[in-house]
Amino acid sequence: MRSVRLLFLGVAAAVAAGSAQSATPDARARDIFKQLIEINTTDTPAGSVTAAAEAAAARLRAAGFSPSDVQLLGPDPRKHNLVARYRGAGRRRPLLLVAHLDVVEARREDWTVDPFTLVEKDGFFYGRGTLDDKGMAASLLANLIRLKEERFTPDRDLILALTADEEGGNFNGVDWLLKNHRPLVDAELALNEGGSGQMNHGKYLVNEVQASEKVYQDFRLEVRNPGGHSSRPVRDNAIYHLSAALARLAQFDFPVNLSEVTRTCFERMAALQSDAKVAADMRAVAGAPTDMSAARRLSNASPFYNALMRTTCVATRLEGGHANNALPQLAAANVNCRILPGESPAAIKERLQQVLADAELTVTFVGQATPSAPSPLNPEVMRAVESITAAMWPGVVVVPVMAPGATDGLFLRNAGIPTYGVEGVFVEIDDNRSHGQDERVGVKQFFEEVEFQYRLIKSLSR
Ligand SMILES: [Zn+2]
Repeated sequence: MRSVRLLFLGVAAAVAAGSAQSATPDARARDIFKQLIEINTTDTPAGSVTAAAEAAAARLRAAGFSPSDVQLLGPDPRKHNLVARYRGAGRRRPLLLVAHLDVVEARREDWTVDPFTLVEKDGFFYGRGTLDDKGMAASLLANLIRLKEERFTPDRDLILALTADEEGGNFNGVDWLLKNHRPLVDAELALNEGGSGQMNHGKYLVNEVQASEKVYQDFRLEVRNPGGHSSRPVRDNAIYHLSAALARLAQFDFPVNLSEVTRTCFERMAALQSDAKVAADMRAVAGAPTDMSAARRLSNASPFYNALMRTTCVATRLEGGHANNALPQLAAANVNCRILPGESPAAIKERLQQVLADAELTVTFVGQATPSAPSPLNPEVMRAVESITAAMWPGVVVVPVMAPGATDGLFLRNAGIPTYGVEGVFVEIDDNRSHGQDERVGVKQFFEEVEFQYRLIKSLSR
């Protein structure tokens, strides 16, 4: 009796200690968020992604993940990636959850608060990485711990990859993991950053699912000429050749080429337009075949709509000549292209040469673009995002998007893992401070992100 009673007391004490440690899901998410923000993970001597990966690993082990399922890997000791596996029933191939731990440099003197302290003020969390991408990292980590605590058995393994070098550096992150540890991160599909919620003066509008990215490619245009004395000019002048060719480029548009993602994007955006003519044009370009006069009107109305519909190439830099009194021996320009996924950089180069139409002018690649295939709009993912969005934010429209820039989704998609950028965090359309000064996320919006990710992960793994 006595021993039973003692045993009972012991259990009660253990339960009490346990519940003191395991806070509410929100408190834990906030605590993890704070810890990650306060570890400097910039690509500078003061920064260490490894320190953040280690902190995350310690939390997973404390939550009962087997140490062999929690690994730190990477070629650079300051930039280790965390890869952790939540074992499921194995009925389907894994779901990969990706967030990067590295952040863009932030200098104390440029900010009104310390970028590496989580400051809560005026309804916001301030700190470098609050939007890009430690909110997502903290959400994913906190949710795996919560699911573990709830003894949830997913129908497939969940793989968490908290990674390095998304913001630059030497490809020690997702790219390196795919090349060197493919089985560890191999999955049927991945969730990643890249699509956020958009709000306008606090009104929630759209929840983006990023399924596609444009490809960045620079070209160098060059005209060389023997030159000579400018007191005896000739018509064959390098600057004239280049400027005439650029004037032809200025008048040129690459053909409209809509994909499943951009069609659906226009179709959904149409519902949000207050201008009925714009809405009708959006529906017309989303139709098949594309209504070309509607496409022209949308292009003229907005550089953003234009960029969604076609590859763009634009002159961004010029150089030429070597003296005020000499005929130029060189005239050169940089042309920056954002190529639609599915179009080849080589074909774009060829088209540029035709448009520039000058045999004296050479066009060469600057750097090597990494082409990126769009992810097909996975119906299970779209349905899950739509129903969770409807439940959490009634009236908000889910819009698949193509990003004009690139994330790690590029490497995942090229490795054959369809990737969806969906964060569930709402940000003011005109006040997104990713990479900028006083980066911040709404307190309410951060906790919504945590809840959204929790529901989404569960929905895609049962
Ligand atoms: Zn990012």
